[in-house]
Amino acid sequence: FITLQGLNKYFDKQHVLKDINLEIEEGDFMTFLGPSGCGKTTTLRLLAGLETQEEGIIVIGDKIVADGKAHIFAPPAERQLNLVFQNYALWPHMTVFENVSFGLEGRKLNKKEIQRKVEISLEKLQILTYKDRYPSELSGGQQQRVAIARAIVTEPKILLLDEPLSNLDAKLRVEMRAELKRLHHELKTTMIYVTHDQIEAMTMSTKIAVFSEGRILQVDKPIQLYQYPNHLTVAQFIGNPA
Ligand code: ATP
Repeated sequence: FITLQGLNKYFDKQHVLKDINLEIEEGDFMTFLGPSGCGKTTTLRLLAGLETQEEGIIVIGDKIVADGKAHIFAPPAERQLNLVFQNYALWPHMTVFENVSFGLEGRKLNKKEIQRKVEISLEKLQILTYKDRYPSELSGGQQQRVAIARAIVTEPKILLLDEPLSNLDAKLRVEMRAELKRLHHELKTTMIYVTHDQIEAMTMSTKIAVFSEGRILQVDKPIQLYQYPNHLTVAQFIGNPA
């Protein structure tokens, strides 16, 4: 469904992605796992169309959306995906309802259709009762639920999540892990999730790609990675949760 082939990316002279190859199947919960600075976010940003790579090809569905050498570049809106960031990025002057309906801006929908879609999304994240509140009146966990509701309201085929739980306290993180897992099960959306948290990766993912210094060391199901790491770094990383 998604193919990354031979991706190489430089920031000035720094070679940050070194021949990234990866297949993601439709419906996967694929986690990019690895320590800070190993290239997870950059890979996600390339997929989203927020960066360009010098070399390599990205295919989504049956379309080449980016080809470094051939200078093919499809803008984010043409990639069937949506993003959730670590810092929620909600509009402070808009209510929960308005923040989520903002995601539908530019679509040809009437008021009733917008209302229905927004309410379904809020319901899925169990925050419908907060629809008239402002972000400042919500907890961090509730704000992140709003950000996720805004991302799914457009019914994307692919949801990209960049450390969405890292600003939450430990208890909420555990709660939201279960929530995201449930959501993945319910929506059947392909999810690509960036984290440096081994437990998060092990509990939610159908597959994990372990990153280290700009490379992918191993891609496998969590249990396989745990039992049969093919690399000492993978064994150390998966075996020693922080
Ligand atoms: P983190 O978990 O800290 O976000 P990461 O694994 O997601 O880490 P990236 O953010 O992809 O890592 O960064 C990979 C490397 O590229 C790092 O060395 C980082 O400093 C560098 N880098 C990332 N974005 C830029 C940028 N816009 N300009 C210059 N260097 C960058």
